[in-house]
Amino acid sequence: MLNSCPVCTSHSATRIFTLVNKDVIWRCSDCLAQWRQAKKPLDNFYNKSYFADWDDEKVTSMKEASFSKSLRRLGFREEDFKGARVLDVGSGNGALLKLLSGWGSMTTGIELSGAGVEMAVKNVPGAKIIHNSCMTVRLKELFDYVILTDLVEHVEQTRELFNRLATWLERRGYIIFTTPDPYSLFAKILGRYWPHYTSEHLVFLSKKAIRKLAEDNGLTTVKIIKNKKVYTAHFFLWQIVRKEMHPFISLAKILLKLLPDRLQTKQFSFATGEHLVLMFRGKR
Ligand SMILES: [Zn+2]
Repeated sequence: MLNSCPVCTSHSATRIFTLVNKDVIWRCSDCLAQWRQAKKPLDNFYNKSYFADWDDEKVTSMKEASFSKSLRRLGFREEDFKGARVLDVGSGNGALLKLLSGWGSMTTGIELSGAGVEMAVKNVPGAKIIHNSCMTVRLKELFDYVILTDLVEHVEQTRELFNRLATWLERRGYIIFTTPDPYSLFAKILGRYWPHYTSEHLVFLSKKAIRKLAEDNGLTTVKIIKNKKVYTAHFFLWQIVRKEMHPFISLAKILLKLLPDRLQTKQFSFATGEHLVLMFRGKR
């Protein structure tokens, strides 16, 4: 077992679930973060098929709409990003880089997956994309915004990650991230079937854990709100099938067959049981 909490290093933890694949989820008694004790080591998940469902113009615009909405809900306007240096950690297919380049930011992406880099270069011509891990990359410049969408939960060494993020920030810079909330209504209802307990998700942050990470790195937690994402029914159902989210697979397959195209591609937004977090370097 991973014998100390990846957020606060406490050794006091409770075993809360054994998942379908026999992995165990632990909960820290101090900061309430949860983490996975994996039965077998994680293979390379982030290959071409991991990004396959993102390599699509409709999906890219769906993601852009989500990012735009999240930034506005945190109180930012398009003008706030004009001329700003932005780092997207785990830039995937480049949807966020595309949005912020359009808003006039100087954008840099870091992406571990070669397939992701390939797509981002194609989607955002001229973008600066660094093919590396956020845990080993060395950066020469500082950033006004460091953004991580759905990345934090993939990293096993949460403390080290936030140490690194803080050193990349300008003095009045912001960290913005989304990550699953293990105490959301969704998580409480679904228990061990919560879709975010998928095998590439390793660490799940409570609000207390988030505040602890900020505090330990000289940052202020400005906001922790419920994230909302823009989805199409097609994308949602397809995820259930692809990620083998028991016990919903059969139902998802039936709906994919029966729902008319018009309904499958209609955009809608809802709270997904994730935190949307804004941290600031300095006092506000
Ligand atoms: Zn802890």
